[in-house]
Amino acid sequence: MTGQRLIQTLLPLRLGWEPFYSYMEDSLPSPLVEGDRIRVEFAGKEYVGVVTVTDARKEAEAAGIGMERIKPIIGPAEGLDRISREEIKLWRQVAEYYLCSPGEVYKAAYPAGKVEEEGVKSRIKERVQQRIAKLDEKIAKARREDTRARYVAERDEILRSAQNDRAAQGSGLSGIELSAAQQEAYSRIKEVLKAGKPALLRGVTGSGKTEIYLKLAAETLAGGKNVLYMVPEIALSRQLEDRIRKHFPEDLQVFHSGMTTARRAEAAAFIKSSPYLALGTRSSLFLPHRNIGLIIVDEENDPSYKQDNPAPRYNGRETAIMLAGIHGAGIVLGSATPSLESLYNCQVGRYGLIDLTARYFHASDSDVEIIDTIAERKKNGMIGSFSRKLIDRIRECLDKGGQVAILRERRSYSPMLQCEECGNIPKCPRCDAALSLHMTDDGRGKLVCHYCGRVYGYSGKCPECGGELKPLGAGTQKIEEEAAALFPGARIARLDSDSARSGKREEEIIKGFAAGDIDILVGTRIVAKGFDFSGLSLVAVLRSDTLLAQQDYRADERALHLLEQFRGRCGRRSEKGLFVIQTSQPDHPVYKSLAGGTESSKTTDKFLSERKLFGYPPYSRVINAVLRDRNLKRIELISRELVGELSGTLGGGAKVIGPYSPVVDKVSGENIRMIRVMLPKDKRLHSSKAALSEAVGRFSTDRKYIGHIALDVDPV
Ligand code: ADP
Ligand code: ZN
Repeated sequence: MTGQRLIQTLLPLRLGWEPFYSYMEDSLPSPLVEGDRIRVEFAGKEYVGVVTVTDARKEAEAAGIGMERIKPIIGPAEGLDRISREEIKLWRQVAEYYLCSPGEVYKAAYPAGKVEEEGVKSRIKERVQQRIAKLDEKIAKARREDTRARYVAERDEILRSAQNDRAAQGSGLSGIELSAAQQEAYSRIKEVLKAGKPALLRGVTGSGKTEIYLKLAAETLAGGKNVLYMVPEIALSRQLEDRIRKHFPEDLQVFHSGMTTARRAEAAAFIKSSPYLALGTRSSLFLPHRNIGLIIVDEENDPSYKQDNPAPRYNGRETAIMLAGIHGAGIVLGSATPSLESLYNCQVGRYGLIDLTARYFHASDSDVEIIDTIAERKKNGMIGSFSRKLIDRIRECLDKGGQVAILRERRSYSPMLQCEECGNIPKCPRCDAALSLHMTDDGRGKLVCHYCGRVYGYSGKCPECGGELKPLGAGTQKIEEEAAALFPGARIARLDSDSARSGKREEEIIKGFAAGDIDILVGTRIVAKGFDFSGLSLVAVLRSDTLLAQQDYRADERALHLLEQFRGRCGRRSEKGLFVIQTSQPDHPVYKSLAGGTESSKTTDKFLSERKLFGYPPYSRVINAVLRDRNLKRIELISRELVGELSGTLGGGAKVIGPYSPVVDKVSGENIRMIRVMLPKDKRLHSSKAALSEAVGRFSTDRKYIGHIALDVDPV
C-alpha cells in the first residue's frame, strides 16, 4: 500500500462527468467515505465537492486518465455534514429525468455558503437527542455483543417513550375527527398506499383535504417516521403553519428558498436531529431527509411547483414521487382540480384516484355571474374597470358585512402606455416588451420592465415625439385606486409582488384579510391560492380575457383551474358565495364549464381527449430546447441548424417543431428561440431523451457555440 487513494467527486457544476482527485491516507484521521465533502480545485477555482467513489482506480483507468493528471484534494470541508446515499440517489434521478448534471442538482440542494451548519447545532438542544447520540456512540464502540444489546434496548426505550410523550401531548391522533366522507377517503388512501402506489386525492375546496393530510401525518409520526408536506407557495405555508402547529407543536419545521442562511441551516440541522414534519415549497425536497414515511403534495396541479430556471428545471410533484420511491414512503397528491398528468396516471393504473365530493360545512357551489364588458360599455354600464352590476354586488356584499376579493392578472398601475400623438408604445431597450407604469409614493410614477426588472424615469412624455403618454388598461394598483373611490368606507388592501415585497408584509395582509380587518382585497393570482378566508363571500375577476389569450395548448385548462380555485375561496362556510367574471368573451367554453356546475371530470375528459388527438402530453413527452444569444443573426442560424440536427438524430415518431420565438423574444439583451421536441411515450422514450441530450451537447461543442442552450423537460 502506498497510502495514496483515488476518489471521484461530484462538483456543483454543469459537468457530464465526475472529476478524479487523490489524497494521502495518513493525511486524514480516517479514510474518506461516500458522501464526504471535500475542498478541491477545478479549472482554477475552489469548490466543495461530494465524494461519490472512494476507490476510483478502475474508473480512472477506464476513463484513460493517468495518475500524473490527477490533482490532490485541498482538504476536507470542515464542519459540513456528510451527504446521505439517498440524497445522492435523488440528485442522480432528477438529473437523469430532467436532462441536467447531478452537480447542478447538488448546487441547488446546497447553495454555496447557505448551509453552513457550524454554530447552529449548539442551538438545537434536545436532551433526548443528546442521550441517543451518546448511546449510538457507545453502541458503535461496544465490543461485546451483550453490552451492545443493552445499549440498543436502552436507546429504543428512550425513542419509544419520546414518541408516546408526543402522542400524549395531543400532537398525535387526538384532535382530528374526520367526517364520514373524510373517513372513507382516508381509508381508500391507505389502501392505495399499501399497494405501493401514489394516491391522488381529488376533493372540492372545503372538503377537508387538509384534515385528512393531518391525520395521515399524525399516524406517520406516531409510527416513528418523518413527514414532508409540500405547498406550491410560501404564502400558503404561513396559514397552514398555525393549523399544523396545533397538532404537532414539537415537530414542525418550515422551509423555503427565501429563508436566510442561518434559518436554512437550522432547518437542515433540525431534520437531522429530530422527528419532523417539514412544511415547505419545492426546494424542501432537497433537505437532508431521512426516514420519510409520508410525502404530501398539496395543490399538486399548481404551476409554481415547476422550476423554470436555472437547472435543474424540475417539477416538485414528479420529484416528490422519486423521493418517496427512494425512501419507500407513501405519497399523497391532492387538489380540487388535479393536473391532467396525474389523472392520466390514474387512468393507466399507476396512481390510485380518490374522490371527495362532499364539503365539510355542506356549503354549496358559489353562483357564477358572467358580465360582458363590451355590451356593458355600450350601455354606459362601465365605470373605469368596474361594471355597474359588479359595483352593486360589491355594495350589497359589504353592507351585509361580507368581504370581497378582486383578481386582476397584471400588477402595475397600467400595464402599458401609448403616445397620443404618434402611437408609440414605450418599450424596454433591453427587452422586447412594453414598459408598465407604476405609481410611486411621490405620485410621479416610474416605468418598469417586468422581464428584466429595470426601472426607468417617467415624465409623462413620449420619448419619440414628446407627445402625451396615455396609460392603456388598468393593473392592480389602478384597480385599488378605483375601488377606493367607488367604496369610500371600505378598508382596501392590495396583494401582489409590489405591495408584498417582503414576506412579512405579505403575511400581514393575508392575516389581516383572514381576520376580517380588510374588506376588499385586490391582487394578482396569489389571491386565488388555497387560503382559508372564512368571511369571503364575493370574488370577482376583472379582464378575465388575459387568462385566455395565450398561445399555448394549456391556456384554457390553466384558466379553468385558476378560476375554479378562486371560486373556491368564497362561501367556504354555510353561506353561498358569488363569483363574478368580467370578460369581453362571455361565450368562451371555459366560462361555460365553470357556470355548468362541478362536472369537472367531464371537462377533464374533454381536455384529455383533445390532448390525445394532438399527441400532446400526457400522451407524449415534451422537451423544449431554449436558446439564448446576444447575436440575432447567429441565434437564427444556429436554431435552424439545431432543428435539422435533431430531426436527423431522433428517429421514429419524434416530432421536432420550430424554431419559433416566444411572445417576448428578447430579455436583458439576449434573444430567445425555442425548439419543441415531442417524444412518443414508448419503450424508446428513455433512450430518445438521452440521445437528445447528447445531440445538443455535441452540437454546441462541434460548433463551439457560445450562446446558451437549455433543455426543459415537461415545461409548464
Ligand atoms: P380543503 O383543504 O379541502 O379546501 P380544508 O381542510 O381547508 O379543506 O377544510 C375546510 C374547512 O373545514 C376548514 O375550515 C377546516 O377547519 C374545516 N374542517 C374540515 N374537516 C374538518 C374536520 N374533520 N373537523 C373539523 N373541521 C374540519
Ligand atoms: Zn427589460
